[in-house]
Amino acid sequence: MFLRVDKLQIEIPAPSQQDPNAGAALQELLGGKYGEMSTLGNYLFQSFNFRSKSKLKPFYSLVAAITAEELGHVELVSNGVAMLNNGPDTGEDETSGGDISNAPFESMTDIRLAAGFFSHAGGATPVNSNGISWNNDFITTTGNVVFDLLHNFHLECGARLHKLRVYESVTDATGREVCGYLLVRGSVHAHAYALALKKITGVEIERMLPVPNIPLGNIPECQKYLAEGSHRRLYTFSPDDYREMSGIWGNGEVALPDDPPGELTVVDGMPDGGKIHELAGVPNVFTPNYAPEEMLEIASKLYRASR
Ligand code: MN
Ligand code: MN
Repeated sequence: MFLRVDKLQIEIPAPSQQDPNAGAALQELLGGKYGEMSTLGNYLFQSFNFRSKSKLKPFYSLVAAITAEELGHVELVSNGVAMLNNGPDTGEDETSGGDISNAPFESMTDIRLAAGFFSHAGGATPVNSNGISWNNDFITTTGNVVFDLLHNFHLECGARLHKLRVYESVTDATGREVCGYLLVRGSVHAHAYALALKKITGVEIERMLPVPNIPLGNIPECQKYLAEGSHRRLYTFSPDDYREMSGIWGNGEVALPDDPPGELTVVDGMPDGGKIHELAGVPNVFTPNYAPEEMLEIASKLYRASR
């Protein structure tokens, strides 16, 4: 089962401007073929379907723990999309009806994912950068642990390539931070699956195929995560379980020697995380019949009653 914590894995910088087309580009990292919904869906169902869990515990634990991290990546990218779609807070009165005489959403007719505004008020949903729905066809769970690990290695390498391309298509700090952090974590996951394959088959995966070489040291947004050692850590995302993966991730062994150096460690629990950016209400979405005062008052009474 799952435990939920009301934080993001990192704090994302607030957007400097509203940029719905950058939000659309970031959607590729959410609902694209190599997006976070795909990594989540793969590891989630592979972990559910895993046979001989107790006998293959280090491998099961690895897939299960990374599953939880991927769910947090889905949350992170979704927040980034909504922040770019929303833009900086205007300080506008959230309780007023807003002025709709000048078609406040007119500019939305020129953006790529207008449906994201018409249907979801600028929020994120599992679609790719062109609005195509993410679906089950992106999930591979074969019942063969070696085959699944090989798929997962491919998936993480593909995810890093497409994160780099999205990084190269956005300029705002909001989108770039999301890409930079996920590039670091993607390198950990690719390396972890490569090590798992090496342990279970004996094949030196670094000699088997040309791994996409994306030097994290050249990407400014990756620097603080490298400095704090995020690129060497795998988190259990659990109070007590999944420590067995330290048999794979640790002991001084590496499978991708070009990754930044350092001892690989398994950390109990989760990263410290950061605050979730609060998106302000958008009166125009509900105008002309917009009167949230009563809802805000009810919520405030319920909050006081809970203290
Ligand atoms: Mn991910
Ligand atoms: Mn991953």
